[in-house]
Amino acid sequence: MLPRKCTSCASISCPAAAFLLEYPGVKQTEIVAVGGGPAGLTAGIYAARSGHKVVVLEKGIPGGQMAMTSEVENYPGFSEPVKGMLLAQTMEQQATRFGCELITAEATGISVSPRGFHVLTTSEEVVAATVIVCTGVMPKRLGVPGEKELVGRGVSYCAVCDGPLFKGKEVAVIGGGDSALDEALYLSNLAARVHVVHRRDEFRACKFAQQRLRERSNVDYHLSSVVQSFDGAQRLAGLTLKSLKDDSNYSIPVAGAFVYVGWLPNTNWCSNLVELDSSGNVRTDDRLRTSFPGAFAAGDVRSTHLRQVATAVGDGALAAMSAHDFLIGKR
Ligand code: NAP
Repeated sequence: MLPRKCTSCASISCPAAAFLLEYPGVKQTEIVAVGGGPAGLTAGIYAARSGHKVVVLEKGIPGGQMAMTSEVENYPGFSEPVKGMLLAQTMEQQATRFGCELITAEATGISVSPRGFHVLTTSEEVVAATVIVCTGVMPKRLGVPGEKELVGRGVSYCAVCDGPLFKGKEVAVIGGGDSALDEALYLSNLAARVHVVHRRDEFRACKFAQQRLRERSNVDYHLSSVVQSFDGAQRLAGLTLKSLKDDSNYSIPVAGAFVYVGWLPNTNWCSNLVELDSSGNVRTDDRLRTSFPGAFAAGDVRSTHLRQVATAVGDGALAAMSAHDFLIGKR
């Protein structure tokens, strides 16, 4: 049998080559960042620039939640709002320029052996000396009748992806945080009318976002109101709302409904390895070390008080440098 070459450096004397002889079809790396949002891509940039072999695994489009954000206006360095997708593509290009390898695959599990962390994915297995958990969050569902059945038929969790389908129509946005109000503003440029449905009469979103939305003439507010059901047979035709002030039910006719009621951490694949808090977020210390030596966490998936592109990027940089310290023996 011919000696197998390392898939990255093409040398037969690389330790990875010996590994591949034993484990053909398994990718070996020093650092694997699981999740290709701003945290994972930044970890890739910093790790690659420090001379490490680094793989970033991403199940969909690089950029994660950021790529699905219409406009980011508080990420420093841009005097004007920048499209989330553009920011994502630029970070991806920056990471690959330094030699970071991006693989499209979803992590499904993780185990540990003397060889390192084995990340199981929907395609190949990746074995790494260190792992950075950057799998971010997924949209929380409301869990009311009709929601599940009408996803993709009017019910959406991504205004940037699906908003253009509702040009000139009436839509609803559910939620009162920054995501809901930012995306309601984006939709108000496309839709004939935007109905903002929020369970309290005060918004959680920052004052600036509230004020900008109030300047739009095609936005209606349904405050202290909750969605009882998403209605429609083949497609969404409207929402039944309940006013929490007088318990009355009423309907609004909308073709699209965008749910922004918070997020749940994507930790199913690694909950056997790292300690989570009561909300399912990964616990870390001030160097972003998790409870398992050699495993780090960065970005929205970890237990933190602020979830922003800017904080995810900072986390990615710190986690990569902590992984670097771990690899060179400075625990
Ligand atoms: P969020 O801040 O957690 O807000 C979720 C909203 O959904 C809240 O208004 C909440 O109501 C409502 N909600 C939760 N569960 C609900 C339910 N079962 N039924 C009805 N309403 C429900 O989530 P987010 O807006 O996605 O923001 C997440 C983080 O990202 C925040 O830190 C935010 O600042 C940040 N972010 C920042 C920007 C920006 O800076 N431009 C943009 C997007 C997101 P209550 O208020 O009553 O709890």
